[in-house]
Amino acid sequence: MNVFESFTGNEINQIAQLKRLFECINGDRALRMAVTKNEITPAQNERLRKIGVTLDLPDIAFLWEASYEGYAYMIAMEKNREEQLDTGILEVVDRYPLLELWGKYLQRIYSSRCLCKWDSLPVPQNKKFAAWRKRRIASVKSELGYFGYQISHPVFAFELSEGCSVGCWFCSFATKKLKAILDYNTSRDYFRRIVQHCIDLFGKEQAAMALPYYCTEPHDNPNYIDFLNDYEELTGAVLCTSTAVGDDISWVRQLLDYYKRGPYPWPRLSVLSLDMLNKIHDAFSPMELIDIELLMQMRENPRQKVAGGRILKEIDGLKGEKDITNKHELRVPQGSIACASGFHINLVNRSIQLFSPCYISKKWPYGYRVFDESRYKDENDFPEVIQAMVERSMPLSPPMNKPLRFRDDIVCRPTEDGFDLLTPNQIHHFKGREKCGPLGELIAAGDSTYAQLTEKLVKEHSINPIVLNTVVQRLFDGGFLDEVYSRKGIFPLLE
Ligand code: SF4
Repeated sequence: MNVFESFTGNEINQIAQLKRLFECINGDRALRMAVTKNEITPAQNERLRKIGVTLDLPDIAFLWEASYEGYAYMIAMEKNREEQLDTGILEVVDRYPLLELWGKYLQRIYSSRCLCKWDSLPVPQNKKFAAWRKRRIASVKSELGYFGYQISHPVFAFELSEGCSVGCWFCSFATKKLKAILDYNTSRDYFRRIVQHCIDLFGKEQAAMALPYYCTEPHDNPNYIDFLNDYEELTGAVLCTSTAVGDDISWVRQLLDYYKRGPYPWPRLSVLSLDMLNKIHDAFSPMELIDIELLMQMRENPRQKVAGGRILKEIDGLKGEKDITNKHELRVPQGSIACASGFHINLVNRSIQLFSPCYISKKWPYGYRVFDESRYKDENDFPEVIQAMVERSMPLSPPMNKPLRFRDDIVCRPTEDGFDLLTPNQIHHFKGREKCGPLGELIAAGDSTYAQLTEKLVKEHSINPIVLNTVVQRLFDGGFLDEVYSRKGIFPLLE
């Protein structure tokens, strides 16, 4: 969808300027304060003009004269709720054509990013993987609520380096220092063979759903774009890029060049400081960055961060070694920034994790649950290692010899006619106590295998085993049951 197709050339130019103005307001605290009070200094105005914002101040006076109405209008347009605007807001919109233009742009942008239609994502041909992935998507929606409906669950997350050289204060993955990178000159063939194995194992459509970085920074690998080109050649996919090194101007130019066949919303730039923002604005015109999202990640920026990884370590009371006894007391305010459900592959240290997003907790401090881990030697044993993980960790029904438990984010609350399952974001109701007796309480206790629990319910509560089996399978297919069967703890969490 081309978000600009209904706008004139002059309007597009004004949108680019407004976008830049809002970036400055978001990223520069002094300007933010000045705008709020209508005290923009001549020097600030001169700076805005220098970086391409030549709009007349009276045309943007809604920022200080009607900031409440302006903000309410923008939110309504983002949510596509234009019909709910009251006359007070509409009167402000009538007075400020630039506000109206910005609202229409927001409406277009947000509707182009609508909730992920995960039902229409290609279904993996591998039956076990298809069922596992379906369960993970259901589980993420149950656990993360609204955020869980927005993510597209890439199947592969490849890392082209080990560690990261940037060290962002907010790193949700608490990534360690950069240790090594994958050398394109010596490892190109290895890389291509791994990608080809992924295609052979799961199909081209699945291999195309990939990230070329995860707990790493793309900029750390000097041949990052060469790897992107190879990936595209093999799978047809143009992969995404988010970078925190936007002040390396020639790097950003290379990325813009790679994505210019778009429009693609890439690269996305994480802006770590006002200096970095200024450098980016000095180097690129508003039009050059009209498709590029700049995320303000300065410490003092009001933008809410996910409290995982490095931030979680800083939160008092979550550093201790004690087991979690009261899960709800330890809830952190936002769910996760993780988005992939599949294989997390570090091509340097040759590790693979089977993972999927979850609500951040002390147990899962990076916002993803690890279901299995393994290592491979080289491109030759890679397919066997992946296959073994599928066999080990993706059963089609709950194993009889493993403890039958709810997911670790769930609290089970017995009710008169069944039980409720409380996740950090939702309540799921299960009724039919007469058919399954104390099934919910027994699963919540978590100390019986599926076989033991079946025996107990059948012998002591006269539950029909076929009905029981059907209900347990339904809980399993809905992603409500714990499936962390095989994690060996090869990669320690939150060190
Ligand atoms: S957020 Fe990205 S760039 Fe920053 S430290 Fe973490 S992995 Fe590195």
